[in-house]
Amino acid sequence: MQNFLKKFPTQRTTRVTRILTRTAYTKATTLNDNEFEHTVPFSSARLGHFTQPKPKLGNFLKQDQTLLKILEKNIPKQHYQTVEDDLLRFSERIASEIDDLGFQCEKEKPYVQTFDAWGNRVDQLVTCEAWKKMHNISAEEGLISLGYENPNEEWRRLHQMSKLYIFASSSGLYSCPLAMTDGAATIIRRIENPTSQLLKAFQNLTSRNPEEFWTSGQWMTEKKGGSDVASGTETVAVEQDDGSYRLHGYKWFSSATDSDMAFTLARVVDKQNNVIEGTKGLSLFYLETKKNDGSLNNIQIIKLKDKLGTRQLPTAELLLDGTSAVRVSELGRGVAEISNMLTISRIHTALMAISNMRK
Ligand SMILES: Cc1cc2nc3c(=O)[nH]c(=O)nc-3n(C[C@H](O)[C@H](O)[C@H](O)COP(=O)(O)OP(=O)(O)OC[C@H]3O[C@@H](n4cnc5c(N)ncnc54)[C@H](O)[C@@H]3O)c2cc1C
Repeated sequence: MQNFLKKFPTQRTTRVTRILTRTAYTKATTLNDNEFEHTVPFSSARLGHFTQPKPKLGNFLKQDQTLLKILEKNIPKQHYQTVEDDLLRFSERIASEIDDLGFQCEKEKPYVQTFDAWGNRVDQLVTCEAWKKMHNISAEEGLISLGYENPNEEWRRLHQMSKLYIFASSSGLYSCPLAMTDGAATIIRRIENPTSQLLKAFQNLTSRNPEEFWTSGQWMTEKKGGSDVASGTETVAVEQDDGSYRLHGYKWFSSATDSDMAFTLARVVDKQNNVIEGTKGLSLFYLETKKNDGSLNNIQIIKLKDKLGTRQLPTAELLLDGTSAVRVSELGRGVAEISNMLTISRIHTALMAISNMRK
């Protein structure tokens, strides 16, 4: 470096000149770091310079010729154009609006406010505005209702699944509550003589009106393990005089805690306070997460899970402390019935995976 400076017209190089020359000729210099520190307090040359263009999300559908071909082959000719137009429009909406909301959900993670300012236990789950918008978009776009509006037209499921495929990787994981919501709607639809309460829930789950649209949870996993539901489930259900039940238990991994309702498994306690162990002892229950006054249905949100990923998704450990619920399966048929929900939510999970790979 000293030799290099000597080449300049004047030996009386100012400090500024030294900085500039060093920046321009860093690669040519052999001066060690200590010597630089002495003469140059800071140099941008040390930071280097690297930029790259921001990725731009295009129209998901236009870029996916395979999906277009599948749709063309499987959707009746008279409906094809309507479906394609809807998917093209939705893909534009994803690129121009929804993808940013998805990022927002990642940045502003949910949290639980356990107590209010006056010391009352409230367990209020706080989610960001973008997450709430995802709820409204899901209703408006018919992301659940499309699969139920005309049950005899099977191709509508394909339309729905295509939308979910386009949506999932930009949804900030709102795809997860939708998976369980779809499963819950399927459970209710399969119930032979649903009560008015269940029919109302079905209408909410499949509504296109954001004000009325509900999402559902699916609470199976307990502390002893997720896969082994048969021996892992410790939650008990105590029958009340009116035929309803009170649930007592601890649900270990419950996603979408902001859901309006849930299906869950529990063991009915008999008059002698005994339960049947194994799968045969498990029944399926329907519950609404809030009472009429807006407080939780004897549910405590103990904590949100501290996950490695999917942090934008409010997944919690829940204490059911006398939660009011209705049994919707025959005694001991809980696993068989909730499997209908699992089948649907598993299809969604596969869809989410390929959506993310595609993106
Ligand atoms: C992000 C996230 C969200 C979740 N949300 C929900 C939710 O909303 N509701 C809910 O109910 N649960 C939820 N879960 C829990 C999830 O369903 C369980 O993690 C899953 O059922 C697996 O159970 P486990 O974690 O106890 O693993 P385990 O059942 O202990 O399994 C651990 C390993 O052992 C293997 N294994 C298990 N049994 C056997 C066997 N018999 N033979 C051979 N191998 C076996 C498994 O394949 C796995 O590799 C969520 C989990 C995650 C990560």
